[in-house]
Amino acid sequence: MNQEQETSGGCLCGAVRFRITGTLRQIVACHCGQCQRSHGNFAAFSACDRDRIVFDEKRGLKWFDSSDKARRGFCGECGSSLFWEPTFDGYTSVSAGSLDNSGDLRLVRHIYTCDKPDWYEITDGHEQFEGSMYGRET
Ligand SMILES: [Zn+2]
Repeated sequence: MNQEQETSGGCLCGAVRFRITGTLRQIVACHCGQCQRSHGNFAAFSACDRDRIVFDEKRGLKWFDSSDKARRGFCGECGSSLFWEPTFDGYTSVSAGSLDNSGDLRLVRHIYTCDKPDWYEITDGHEQFEGSMYGRET
């Protein structure tokens, strides 16, 4: 129904620019220790099928294998954290903050709350998972 929809995004300096066709998943906040380190706090990610991302600029795009299950994409020039890609599935998580216009997307869920540090509380009433949300799709 939304096949004409296109969402653009990129890093802070412009060395990574991309467009995504079609709808994006609602936003999930990941509180895991790896996201805390790479984002500076919890990470808010939308997501889409990997093959729906088209890069208009990718000279800055670098990948870091953050575990045997996933890699993280970031801009090597400005340091923006942009993507999370599992090795076991065909989707890419896209940092909500990298989107030029997040439109109708809303935060709907918290995951890996077991790793949440003590300096903030989750008080928005959205559902929380101590681990991942696999088996649960928006
Ligand atoms: Zn950049």
